[in-house]
Amino acid sequence: MAKTSSFSDIGLNYIGGNFVAPSSPDGAVHREDPADLSADPVIVETSTAAVATAVEAAREAVIGWRRSPRDERAAALRRFGAAVTAHVEDLARAIQADVGKAYWDALTEARAVASKVELVIGPGSALTQAVRSEQVSGGYRYLPLGVVGVIGPFNFPAHLPNGQFLPAMIEGNTVVVKVSEAAPRTAQLLARCMDAAGLPPGVFNLVYGAADVGEALVANPEVDGLFFTGSPKVGRAIERSSLDLAPGRLVALELGGKNASLLLPDAALAPALRACAFAAYVSAGQRCTATSRVYVPRARLPEAAATLCTVASAIKLGHPGDSDVFAGPLALRGTRNTYLAAITKADAQLTRHTSGTAHPLAATGYFVPPAVYSARSCDTDVPGFTDVELFGPCVTLFPYDEVEEAIAAINRSRYGLAAAIFGGDEARFSDLAAELRCGLVHWNRSTAGASGALPFGGVGDSGNFRPAGIFAGLQCVFAQTWLGSAEPASDQGWPGFP
Ligand code: NAD
Repeated sequence: MAKTSSFSDIGLNYIGGNFVAPSSPDGAVHREDPADLSADPVIVETSTAAVATAVEAAREAVIGWRRSPRDERAAALRRFGAAVTAHVEDLARAIQADVGKAYWDALTEARAVASKVELVIGPGSALTQAVRSEQVSGGYRYLPLGVVGVIGPFNFPAHLPNGQFLPAMIEGNTVVVKVSEAAPRTAQLLARCMDAAGLPPGVFNLVYGAADVGEALVANPEVDGLFFTGSPKVGRAIERSSLDLAPGRLVALELGGKNASLLLPDAALAPALRACAFAAYVSAGQRCTATSRVYVPRARLPEAAATLCTVASAIKLGHPGDSDVFAGPLALRGTRNTYLAAITKADAQLTRHTSGTAHPLAATGYFVPPAVYSARSCDTDVPGFTDVELFGPCVTLFPYDEVEEAIAAINRSRYGLAAAIFGGDEARFSDLAAELRCGLVHWNRSTAGASGALPFGGVGDSGNFRPAGIFAGLQCVFAQTWLGSAEPASDQGWPGFP
C-alpha cells in the first residue's frame, strides 16, 4: 500500500479502481487542525462533476458484482478488513488528526471498522437469507438496490460510513461514498484499504468534498439507495429532495440525539453518574448517543450535581495525540460556536455547577471544558439549549418527584435515539423502557454504548425507521417474492372464466 501515515496524497477521489485528482475542481475544503489552529490547514480541491463519474463507474460494476457469489464478495470484504487491521494505527492517527478525537478513542473507532467485517458477513447476512415458505410453493429473497450512496458525519468519520458501505457491498450493491469533509486523511486511508482488497473496478468509489459534493450525490437519479448519517436538518432536506429527484429511491437516515438517563430512586448513584459522565464527555460530547439530560429524584439532586462535578472537573482534555488525554477539542469551528451560544442561554436560566466556560487551551484549539447544569424541574425549558442537540461536553440534571413525570419529560424531546435507565429490576426496566419513545434503551449502562450485533437507530428527529447496526443490510435490499413450481398451475374454476 502507498504511504499512508504521511497522508501525502490526500484529496484524491477513488473512482473505478483508480485514485484520481478532481479533473475540473469547482470547490475547495480548508481543513484546519482543531487541536492546533496555528498549524497549516489541509487544503483540498474538490469536484461536483466527479460524483457523476463515480456513479457511472458504480453503475457499470453493479451487474457483475450482484451476480458474483456471496462468498467472493465476503472474501473481498475480508481482504479490506485485513488491510484495515494492518493499518489500524494509521487509521486511528488519521481520525485523530482529522477531527481531534483522543487517540484511544480514535483507535477504538479504527478497530471497530475492521471488526465490522465479520459482523456483516455473519449475523448481518443471516438476516437477508432467502426463505422458502412452508405454507405455499413459493418464498422470498432479497435483491440489492443497485448503486448505493453513503454520506457520513464528522464524528465517526470511518466507522459510520463503513457500517453502511460494507452491508451494501455484501448484499451486492456497488457504492459511492462521501465521508465528511472534516476527514480527508480518514477518507484517503479507507480508500487505500479498499484498493488493497483488489475489488472489481467501480464496486467501491469514494468522492471527497463538502455539502456541494453531497448534494451532487443526492441529485443523481442513478443512485438507487442513499444512506445518510448526520444532522436532522440535512437529513430531512435529503429526504425531501430525493422524493422530487428520485422518488423510487430508498433513503435511510441516522440522525441526531438528545439522550436522557433516568436514575430510579433505588439506583446506585455513584456508578450511574460515572456512566452518565462518560457518555456526556467522551469524544468531547460529539456522539449522537451522548448523554445530555439526567433525571434524578429531587432529594438527590445536590449529591448528583456534586458527583458529576467531581468527575467533570477531573477529566483531562488536551492534545488528542497525547496518551493520557480523555478527550480533545470540538472538531469544527461551527460546532464550537453553536455550542458556546447554547451555553450562554443555559447560563442565563439554569444553575451552572462547573466553573468557567473557557478552557485554558481555548486559544490553541476548539477546546471547551466539561459542563454540569441543573434545572428547577423536569419541565424547565431553555429554547436553544434543552431542546437541541448540543454536540459538546455538557449535561443537565433535572429533578423529578414521580418517575412518570420524568418519563413524560424524556419523551417530550423531538429526538428519540438513546436512553438509559439505572436501578430497578428487569421487569421494571422493561416496563419503563416500553414507555420511552427511543430506538435504544440501556439498563445500568450509559446511552453511549452500542453493539454492532444489534440494530441501531432512533425515532422522531433521530431517523426514519430504518435502523442501521446489524439491520443495515436490510436497508440495502428489496424483498422479491416468488410463487410457483415446475408443474403448470391448475384452473380454480373461476366463475365466468372459460
Ligand atoms: P451534517 O449533517 O452537517 O453533515 C453530514 C454529512 O452530510 C457530511 O458529509 C456533509 O458534507 C454532508 N452534507 C451537508 N449538507 C449536505 C447537503 N445539503 N446534501 C448532501 N450532503 C450534505 O452532520 P455532521 O455535523 O457531520 O455530524 C453530526 C451529526 O450527525 C449530529 O447531528 C449527530 O447526532 C449525527 N450523527 C448521527 C448518528 C446516528 O447513527 N444516528 C451517528 C453519528 C452522528
